[in-house]
Amino acid sequence: MSFFKRLLRQPAPIRVPLAATDGPHAPFNPLAERALIAETLLASAARLMTVRRELELVRGVCEAMCGASQHIRLAWTWFGDEKTNVIRPQAYAGVASDYAANTTIERNVLTEQGPAYRTLGGKTPEQFRISSRSPYGPWRQMANDHGVRSVMAVPLKSSFTSMGGLFVIYADHEHYFRDVGESLFTALGELFSSVLTSLAERTALEEAVYHDALTGVLNRHALPIIERRLLRRSTTDPSSFLLMVDVDHFKTVNDTLGHAVGDQVLRNIAMTLRNMLRPDDSVLRWGGEEFLICLPNTRHDDALLVAEKLRRAVTELAGPAPVTASIGVAEVLASHDLAASIDKADQAMLQAKVTGRNRIVYRA
Ligand code: GH3
Ligand code: MG
Ligand code: MG
Repeated sequence: MSFFKRLLRQPAPIRVPLAATDGPHAPFNPLAERALIAETLLASAARLMTVRRELELVRGVCEAMCGASQHIRLAWTWFGDEKTNVIRPQAYAGVASDYAANTTIERNVLTEQGPAYRTLGGKTPEQFRISSRSPYGPWRQMANDHGVRSVMAVPLKSSFTSMGGLFVIYADHEHYFRDVGESLFTALGELFSSVLTSLAERTALEEAVYHDALTGVLNRHALPIIERRLLRRSTTDPSSFLLMVDVDHFKTVNDTLGHAVGDQVLRNIAMTLRNMLRPDDSVLRWGGEEFLICLPNTRHDDALLVAEKLRRAVTELAGPAPVTASIGVAEVLASHDLAASIDKADQAMLQAKVTGRNRIVYRA
């Protein structure tokens, strides 16, 4: 008898039901399910904790959970400003990941009463049923494509100002969360909250390193980040320009009106400069009353027009003291490093000072 014939005569293998991991229609044993997920998470805890990035850790936990239970079809998290208008899942795992990858929940009349925004900012998790008759189209699709029957949304609380988030889990059993119990998922929500809060704090600290505390514009430390945008690799690249803006006789403002008023004037000037420029341009507080303005992809004539626009805006500023500014203009040349171009803009600004102030000087 040939090998294949013998094979065909073999009795069909007996399927041994595997507690909770036996396909979408697997027998559902809530206690075994909870134990299985908890054990898997504990077993992978050490590995997950060595992950460097917070979002990777959160995704790792979601992956471990979805891997442990075939009843959980998707888990996603979002973390950000509680008052946000748009929620997009940031870390997700599960066979229905496509849904998370393509989902955008916008705050409007409909969704404000819907699960995401109802749970966000709330204190307790909420459970929802999904079916092929759900009023929300993507949920109907989930029910059809992935057999999803229930959803639990856990609010993520944060000690960090106005930050919050969501941890949302989708299961293929109508009473999954009621039967398995909410506690495991609430506990994971707490873990995610603290991990994502520390991410938000670190991001805010990093932001602070590059920003000037008084005026809110960038500081000198931000220059290496901007440099990339300004430097030309060849003469065929579009030109970039630098403006060095120095407030005229600023010492007099402090001396006559006091330092606090001086601070306010500096804030007004910085905001005016920032608001008059394109999003790609940058304003750096270069020194006490000096601002370096970076104009990438700008032609010579336009740089001079921008300088004139800014000079005039400073003189027209309403505030406790009228002020003017002297502006030096220099091109970022392909052959020069940025420091040399900054130096040229500085020389041009000093020339504007000695030739009468409240003016623009261009140095080739
Ligand atoms: P010039 O037209 O030659 O630039 O005269 P100036 O008075 O603006 O220049 P000078 O360099 O003599 O003085 C700069 C002044 O800017 C002195 C300093 O106290 C003031 N200043 C620098 N940083 C701050 C700040 O953060 N707040 C306030 N209120 N004043 C500042
Ligand atoms: Mg100065
Ligand atoms: Mg000055």
